[in-house]
Amino acid sequence: METLIRGAAVVVTMDGARREIAGGDVLIRQGEIVAVGQGLTTTGTVLEAAGCVVTPGLVNTHHHLYQTLTRAVPGGQDALLFGWLKTLYPIWARFGPEEIFTSAQVGLAELALSGCSLTSDHLYLYPNGARLDDTIAAAAEVGLRFHPTRGAMSIGETSGGLPPDSLVEPEAAILEDCIRVVDAFHDPRPGAMVRVGIAPCSPFSVSRDLMREAALLARDKGVMLHTHLAENDEDVAYSLATFGCRPGQYAEDLGWTGVDVWHAHCVKLDGAEIDLFARSGTGVAHCPCSNCRLGSGIAPVRALRDAGGKVGLGVDGSASNDAGNLVAEARQALLLQRVARGADAMSVREVLEIATLGGAQVLGRDDCGSLAPGKRADIAIWDMRGIEAAGNWDPVAALLLCGPTRVRDLFVEGRRVVAGGQMVTLDLPAVIARQNRLAQRLAGG
Ligand SMILES: [Zn+2]
Repeated sequence: METLIRGAAVVVTMDGARREIAGGDVLIRQGEIVAVGQGLTTTGTVLEAAGCVVTPGLVNTHHHLYQTLTRAVPGGQDALLFGWLKTLYPIWARFGPEEIFTSAQVGLAELALSGCSLTSDHLYLYPNGARLDDTIAAAAEVGLRFHPTRGAMSIGETSGGLPPDSLVEPEAAILEDCIRVVDAFHDPRPGAMVRVGIAPCSPFSVSRDLMREAALLARDKGVMLHTHLAENDEDVAYSLATFGCRPGQYAEDLGWTGVDVWHAHCVKLDGAEIDLFARSGTGVAHCPCSNCRLGSGIAPVRALRDAGGKVGLGVDGSASNDAGNLVAEARQALLLQRVARGADAMSVREVLEIATLGGAQVLGRDDCGSLAPGKRADIAIWDMRGIEAAGNWDPVAALLLCGPTRVRDLFVEGRRVVAGGQMVTLDLPAVIARQNRLAQRLAGG
């Protein structure tokens, strides 16, 4: 069964030569790309792509899908990170499996409609019987390639931590459940649709022991490690006061650097930490909207890239963004680096690379993130003939400088998830209605 995407205005390959092919075609078979070029033919299905830019599916490296149920909560709208968390923790404590499943469906569909084919998720609270399994079931239904991470919090308020005691778990139980979900769901093979990571929430919500044990466990199982690091000044101050060192040192001491590790935010990395991350192959999930929304600062993406560091994009949770649109996030990344470093700080094409290939590298996926024979058929098709981009002189640049912010078609593992700007795997109005009912129930107390 073949599908030929034919006659695109431009195919942006992100291959080794970063080729852009005018009038380009992409041929896919059994979930894999078999040819990219001009004048390709097939006896299978043909999908016309005239007027479209075709890119690799975008890759999201940081999210908390459950937070789609707590968007624009009044008490958290204008707070810094720690105050924002304290407003939301008691609401999240009332979640259960139904909330986790439905909010994940909403967040995943929102990502799909914005061109994302591969996403990670960081779920670090498991109230009232919720499990990582709930999000994995949601992703299987939506059809995205999914890297869920088993997050955790173990230090509650009475032990000097930030979260309420009702949201923390005993550390032995956390490690046991990490083993359970890795054994049940992690697929190390090329083309995998699910890979599980281990992800204690942050240095201010778990112990040093758990960080160290998590790293040992991840290496034993051959899975990746993820957490939040150096998100803002409060975060760095906490590290200095509690651990007597900066976040980079803390990470390195506990085994949290390397090609199998990626950290979210890293807004406050200093020069030595940037060098450490680049040298060790440690990845960074850059979340520009969240960093703006919480007033955290501007991550040193230019410096990280110049040092040879790995950077991907993340929409972060939908309570601190509060959107989950990945192509809009790419535009924000472009603009934010320019605020910090001037208009020549970063080109559109470099940000597109971060949003695709860069994210795939951060997540350890050499089978995704580019359009080339042998890569997985994760493909986004953007219709540039709408009002947003009318009059543009360069459709590739226009994708981030103008729009659209909704994909026309999205393929994941060769399967069409979005067609004509609509979800084909979900009854989206029904999912939205269910989500709004759950939000009302939570707001009612
Ligand atoms: Zn986060």
